[in-house]
Amino acid sequence: MARLCALGKNRLGVPGVIHFTVRSAGCTDHGWMRVRLLSLLVLWVLATPVAGSELRWEGPPLPDDYRGPMLVDNSQYRYTAHDMLAFSTAEHLTDSFPELLPLRSAIDTWAARVGIHPRLLSAVVRDSFAGSTVFGDWVDQNTVAQLAAGLGEVYALRASDPLAASQAVAAVSRALGFELDLPADLADARQLVAAPTAGPPLFGYFQPPWEIGDTWSGGGAHGPSHNALDFWGDWVPWGGDTTPYWVSAMQEGVARVWSSCSMSVIHPNGWTTSYYHLDNILVADQTPVLRNDRLANYADNEPQAICDGGFSTGPHVHMYQRYDGTNISVDEANVDFTAFSHHAGVGDYDTNCDRSWYNHFTVGTVCPNWDLLLNDAPGPGPLFEDGFESGSTANWTSTILQ
Ligand SMILES: [Zn+2]
Repeated sequence: MARLCALGKNRLGVPGVIHFTVRSAGCTDHGWMRVRLLSLLVLWVLATPVAGSELRWEGPPLPDDYRGPMLVDNSQYRYTAHDMLAFSTAEHLTDSFPELLPLRSAIDTWAARVGIHPRLLSAVVRDSFAGSTVFGDWVDQNTVAQLAAGLGEVYALRASDPLAASQAVAAVSRALGFELDLPADLADARQLVAAPTAGPPLFGYFQPPWEIGDTWSGGGAHGPSHNALDFWGDWVPWGGDTTPYWVSAMQEGVARVWSSCSMSVIHPNGWTTSYYHLDNILVADQTPVLRNDRLANYADNEPQAICDGGFSTGPHVHMYQRYDGTNISVDEANVDFTAFSHHAGVGDYDTNCDRSWYNHFTVGTVCPNWDLLLNDAPGPGPLFEDGFESGSTANWTSTILQ
């Protein structure tokens, strides 16, 4: 009879991304049992969705105690829905920093990801390179990503401070040891164009970011203010076939295509939804899209998935949302995916269904990672004829598939 003994906990996963805590049932003196447990564990880990692509500051501590004078007015930091449609980073770089043109798509992607105006981000990027050659390769792209991450972390901590944006740029320049030489007018307030409606819409504005009738899975919330979720139609490893799975517009709007793997949709009421790790983008920049229109596949290979830098643990779409330039948690009341509300849990990528779950209007709790989410939004046409406030799903039929 095999002698069992406790193995305790093994913490597995990708550092800084997602971890699985595994408690094995026991062990034995017989080596084959260990091998079998190990192989089961490996198979389980390989089969487990590990969607992850979180952007975090990885540099030295950020000294956020800058007290003045004003370097950047907070209005210059903000990247509103109107800005996302009206501002051309390509034109700005051509006019002001042509040496950064190889990084145009990375600046657009990480500006959209963090919610920082690309004019400010490009100025900080220019100062960080301090005259050294810009290649625009993955290393340079990640410099942009890291600068955006650092700026975003300090700004989010200090957002109520009039010096928040100044503290953010001072923090990253001091942490990385480069001199700031920002355009003087960044210290001036600018007139922001307000979103056309006052406040976030109510329940039912967005459908899930895949086609009506399809069932996908979703992970745990992450990103600035928990404003991001990962979704995939079926869990396949790199090299698997992702062509059946179409990321689709969550609501009508105008497409901004930042690169071959990155795009946003600017919705008419001040909301924006953005998508990363894409391939086969079907829509052109600055063209209108309708709800449920196919936008792109998510990429089946890592280089394409991270074409503007960052990382990804496997094929999926990273979706994030903002209202008028502000990152809004997927947990926020009234910010739900039509049939699904979401409870974000603790920290990033919480997939413990006791704390983190989707809630289907008629089905109830749907756990992240494993359960399937059916997009049963009505379509086409407006979701609710009487506006965003109806919340009515009386006509929907819903099934949870496990
Ligand atoms: Zn993600």
